Amino acid sequence: MTEVKPGAPLPDSLWAATATAGPLTPPLRDDASFDVAIVGAGFTGLSTALHLAERGVRVGVLDAAEPGWGASGRNGGQVIPGLKYDPDELVRRFGASTAEPLIDVIGRAADTVFDLIAKYRIECAAVRRGWIQPAPSQAMLETVTRRAKQWETRGVNVTLLDAAEVSRRLGTHAYVGGWIDQRAGSLHPLNYTRGLARAAQSLGVRVHRQTPVVALSREHNRWRLSTAQGATVTAERVVIATNGYTGALWPGLRQSVIAANSFLVATQPLAPAIGGDILAGGEVASDSRRLLLYFRRDAAGRLVMGGRGPFAEPAGATDWAHLERAVELMYPQLKGVRYDYRWAGRVAITADFLPHVHEPAPGLTIALGYNGRGIALATTMGRHLAARIAGDTRMPSPFPVTAVKPIPMHGLQRFYITAGVAWYRLLDALA
Ligand SMILES: Cc1cc2nc3c(=O)[nH]c(=O)nc-3n(C[C@H](O)[C@H](O)[C@H](O)COP(=O)(O)OP(=O)(O)OC[C@H]3O[C@@H](n4cnc5c(N)ncnc54)[C@H](O)[C@@H]3O)c2cc1C
Repeated sequence: MTEVKPGAPLPDSLWAATATAGPLTPPLRDDASFDVAIVGAGFTGLSTALHLAERGVRVGVLDAAEPGWGASGRNGGQVIPGLKYDPDELVRRFGASTAEPLIDVIGRAADTVFDLIAKYRIECAAVRRGWIQPAPSQAMLETVTRRAKQWETRGVNVTLLDAAEVSRRLGTHAYVGGWIDQRAGSLHPLNYTRGLARAAQSLGVRVHRQTPVVALSREHNRWRLSTAQGATVTAERVVIATNGYTGALWPGLRQSVIAANSFLVATQPLAPAIGGDILAGGEVASDSRRLLLYFRRDAAGRLVMGGRGPFAEPAGATDWAHLERAVELMYPQLKGVRYDYRWAGRVAITADFLPHVHEPAPGLTIALGYNGRGIALATTMGRHLAARIAGDTRMPSPFPVTAVKPIPMHGLQRFYITAGVAWYRLLDALA
């Protein structure tokens, strides 16, 4: 069993048996100069880099660890379009003229991922068989039914599922119904991230691992990035793409999100006798609870189960026990199954549950806060950041630019997470 903890280096791969070797990304030793320097080699940074390089821009990406070391290489692999808010709610909040372009872009966010995978032939076990959102209670079923209908009126291929159909597809009786969104799918997250890095490199982007950026300053109309090893990068523009791993690079940024851990376990590959009924159609699933469970089968047939935990940092196997209990409750036949992997990573939660884009100084762009759903969203964000940085007025970004706004009493984020988890658990129990 392998435990991968935040702060520890990724082993050669997260799922050692199936991850491809990482791209060749040497640490930065000598001073360098780029048009655009990007801090962070996850989906946000690498997608921005790739789309800028497609436009002929000279880009360098610097990561404190390696491409995919953050959430991008260690997530649940569910490619789901959309935001926390349903389309009608976005229209209510922002008005149709602001909301509709945003709904259009987020609605097509999974296409962006699968199109890139096809274009650059990224080997990451990508499949597109849909996302099932099952509801554990009648009240939640009404919510997900409304959600499905809102997307359906916008031309999306959705199907409502009754209790029997959900049970048939998921292989558990834990839910009373749900819906399936055919836009969604799954992939091997570390391989996808590494594939993005390789694609960017093939277009001339320089990607440097083990290159923590420790300071940012502006000199003679250019940005100067100081790295831990002493090399300096200068660039006309800078993008900070550090999400849940954001440090002190820009004042107040770390305090503008809550960095909460999400936990995952992966069973041994399941033999047909015990796993044959579980998501046999290759869909992914995440339920409609506030403290949701998300699960899918991987290419080797493992059941990968994820969810929140009450801990800021996991300390040992018991910190994943709640997920293993959930597996057992949903799938009693898996009692005693071996777990091959347990790991966790940081998501960035924003106070308004929307992704944030900031431009707090000339030539500086920051994007973060995908609230645990960033494969499609961060990849799409990168595409739009690239267009904006390149000054492409034909592709206006639907993501509003806002001021960096620290969350009050951020020092208590550990308390927020624990209290929030307890509160959500209560609401889920009452729903
Ligand atoms: C356990 C888990 C499960 C998830 N499951 C899903 C899922 O199933 N579907 C989904 O859509 N989303 C999921 N997410 C969310 C998704 O993974 C994230 O939203 C997305 O990866 C964010 O990408 P990013 O590039 O913005 O940040 P990250 O991938 O976190 O990358 C940030 C990078 O910044 C680097 N960095 C930080 N500081 C510095 C510095 N000073 N100098 C240089 N580099 C620095 C870090 O090393 C890191 O590599 C999950 C997240 C987690 C943690």
